[in-house]
Amino acid sequence: MTERIVVGAAVLDGERLLAARRSAPEELAGRWELPGGKVEPGETPEAALVRELREELGVDAEVIERVPGAWPLKSPYVLHVWTARLLPGTGEPKPLEDHDELRWLGPGELWDVDWLDQDVPAVREVAARLRS
Ligand code: C5P
Repeated sequence: MTERIVVGAAVLDGERLLAARRSAPEELAGRWELPGGKVEPGETPEAALVRELREELGVDAEVIERVPGAWPLKSPYVLHVWTARLLPGTGEPKPLEDHDELRWLGPGELWDVDWLDQDVPAVREVAARLRS
């Protein structure tokens, strides 16, 4: 089957990373993830990332760069991650859809939340980049 890409956004504000707690579905609720979602047919992953951040968090963002790696989700989905930043004046992100809490995690706090298993390697990559 053809792979379908799920985009995840490592939204950065200086050295802080935005984490979002899922409110659904039941098996994922309470776990934390990089906000994002499925790329729609005909859409680029970068456009999907910007769309998902607007829908889920009510903010305008720009993509910075791809975080190397591809992490398998439930077939046929595979998680690709990009760093991103909020555009000036867009305001604070709000959990509008899929999430019930957001947290900005500082450098010493990245592992204070219970990340979804599949997001852990992506967060590890982002952490390595923040340190370098
Ligand atoms: O948010 P949405 O439901 O569109 O995400 C599609 C799938 O990708 C979900 O099953 C979700 O668990 C998964 N996902 C993930 N890690 C993310 C974002 C989404 O595993 N950072």
